[in-house]
Amino acid sequence: MNHQPIEILGERVFIALGANLGEPLQQLDTAVLELQKEPKIICVAMSKVYISEPHGPQNQPDFTNAVLEIRTTLAPEGLLDILQCIEKKQGRKRHEHWGARTLDLDIILYADKIIHTDRLTIPHPYAHEREFVLQPLADLDNTLVLPDRGKVTDLLKQLPTETMEVIRDVTTYNR
Ligand code: ADP
Ligand code: MG
Repeated sequence: MNHQPIEILGERVFIALGANLGEPLQQLDTAVLELQKEPKIICVAMSKVYISEPHGPQNQPDFTNAVLEIRTTLAPEGLLDILQCIEKKQGRKRHEHWGARTLDLDIILYADKIIHTDRLTIPHPYAHEREFVLQPLADLDNTLVLPDRGKVTDLLKQLPTETMEVIRDVTTYNR
């Protein structure tokens, strides 16, 4: 048993989970179970789960979204590899930008790092303008700040109110 405090077991990272094909809620939960199996990842908490209308193409089902807080000793690109593997394993085939998908796993925050590489932009480029990302982040920690953008709760106040619905009204903590 490892009794070290969770804070020193890696970087604090937030991952957005989204799906709008198949059984979205189940796919989000399955993704969390898959991440829990990873040796270099500890799942800390999962936000409430929300349903909202699609951004981008409108001729697709509503999206189910949540945010997962983890600790990881993986580097950002190593974490992305694992996320993309899980997306693939859960049957993701289509790659239309903002289009329908069985599972989308995006790195929203990686500690307080700002990253711009071919494969990664962190903080996620749209996080600051998406209620379905900001609200779950605030569920998990209402003091969070997006580097370069400001406090999550302030960013939320600046958004037009959308018609987001809560479909699981609890934040789940792992320990
Ligand atoms: P999107 O999530 O934008 O709808 P995809 O999930 O198909 O699109 O991802 C497209 C590419 O986005 C991935 O191949 C990945 O390299 C890149 N990407 C850039 N920044 C991030 C990030 N913060 N999290 C996840 N993927 C990212
Ligand atoms: Mg993605």
